[in-house]
Amino acid sequence: MKPYYSYLELQKALKSKKTTCFKTTKLYLSRISDHTHLNIFVEVFEKEALAKSKLVDEKIQKGTAGRLAGMVIGIKDNICLKNHTVTAASKILNGFESLFTATAVQRLIDQDAIIIGRLNCDEFAMGSANENSVYGSVKNPIDKTRVAGGSSGGSAAAVAAGLCLASLGSDTGGSVRQPAAFCGVVGVKPTYSRVSRHGLIAYGSSFDQIGPLTNNVYDAALILEVISGNDDYDSTTSSRKVDHYSKIISTSSPKRIAYFRQALELPILDKEIKNTIENKIIDLKNNGHTVDAVDFPYFDSLMPTYYILSTAEASSNLARYDGVHFGYRSKEITDLESTYKNSRTEGFGEEVKRRIMLGTFVLSSGYNEEFYNKALKIRRLIQDDTKKIFQSYDLLISPVTPHTAFPIGGKNIDPTKAYLEDVFTVHANLSGNPAISMPISNHTNGMPISLQITSGMFKEKEVFSFANSIYKLQ
Ligand code: GLN
Repeated sequence: MKPYYSYLELQKALKSKKTTCFKTTKLYLSRISDHTHLNIFVEVFEKEALAKSKLVDEKIQKGTAGRLAGMVIGIKDNICLKNHTVTAASKILNGFESLFTATAVQRLIDQDAIIIGRLNCDEFAMGSANENSVYGSVKNPIDKTRVAGGSSGGSAAAVAAGLCLASLGSDTGGSVRQPAAFCGVVGVKPTYSRVSRHGLIAYGSSFDQIGPLTNNVYDAALILEVISGNDDYDSTTSSRKVDHYSKIISTSSPKRIAYFRQALELPILDKEIKNTIENKIIDLKNNGHTVDAVDFPYFDSLMPTYYILSTAEASSNLARYDGVHFGYRSKEITDLESTYKNSRTEGFGEEVKRRIMLGTFVLSSGYNEEFYNKALKIRRLIQDDTKKIFQSYDLLISPVTPHTAFPIGGKNIDPTKAYLEDVFTVHANLSGNPAISMPISNHTNGMPISLQITSGMFKEKEVFSFANSIYKLQ
């Protein structure tokens, strides 16, 4: 049976009694078991999902169902659900059960979404290919020999393969948008502080945001509207009122759009992706929008700034996994020091260890002035310059990735090459601005090509309206 590709479509079917939440949940469960070869889910909450779907069916009959009634959603394995295992795809969290539910997930549950399972990802959300997972790589549903992207590879592949209607991922440097682009779905990184990080396993706390992955712009807007907003459990959340993102305005009013000149001149940018973006620019101009190339002098500093600051934060956040407080403990222990040392050595994967070491180095005395503090200053300049751009422009566009999804096993050999995957996405994390990734075309290799649209702080509503208007233009 065909899955649903939009919540509106499902709602219609529920209303006309063509289906029930129970039947839809069963449908997704059977699709999940038919697609285990893609290695997308690491756990399926079959019984609970079915029980909840029955409850929601009753609520629908009584007219008391929530805004996401029957929406079947998968969650990345770094987002907590009370009394359920959560591992961040790491051996070090082997067997760890969460004591509470992430605020974002609780808000979905409160609106009668059905949480169907945990999704594969890169270990501690570090990676761009989902190849750093203790569960192995996720296969791209469009071409099984290729990666799904990362770190929220399972979240993107699940939506693309129709194993759930939507999913949650987390985005620290592009981890929602990049896999969304590789799998041809919509992915959103909200403004930093818009969505609570309570219950999200921390990687780089000044960057991390939870975001939705969906098959269309409306579903992403609706989910973001539900999960956004102030939260007492995360003091960095904004108390600003949440806009009605899902009330998408189909205005064709001309926009002032910018793109970074340096982005389209990047030598590693695939020619076809470049052409697609250039054609999109022409298309937008023909539709009455202004599109200008702007100089962004910090473009070459984006990657080093992100990798210095995010690894510094990671080295501190991951210090808590010591073999005592959480999950895995080495068998080879004789005293406290060997407990720490051997548990961490055996429990963390190669990439995570590399980043902990890099982060510890840039923070260490004698080097922190040269690296960490300098990167903080550059981040400030990036933020100031970005703010200036949004004084003259409504939106910023760019490719999401320098190329389409690559073959499994191809990139991980050279970590610095893998880091370049994030060249277009880290900007929005460093500056804090919201950004969407959405498919706009196909490469001759058969893989999707996506466009990234970034807006001013807290202007998600503008992003959704504009994205929806050009989505329809395809
Ligand atoms: N690919 C980036 C990294 O490896 C982004 C990760 C993320 O957004 N969680 O750090």
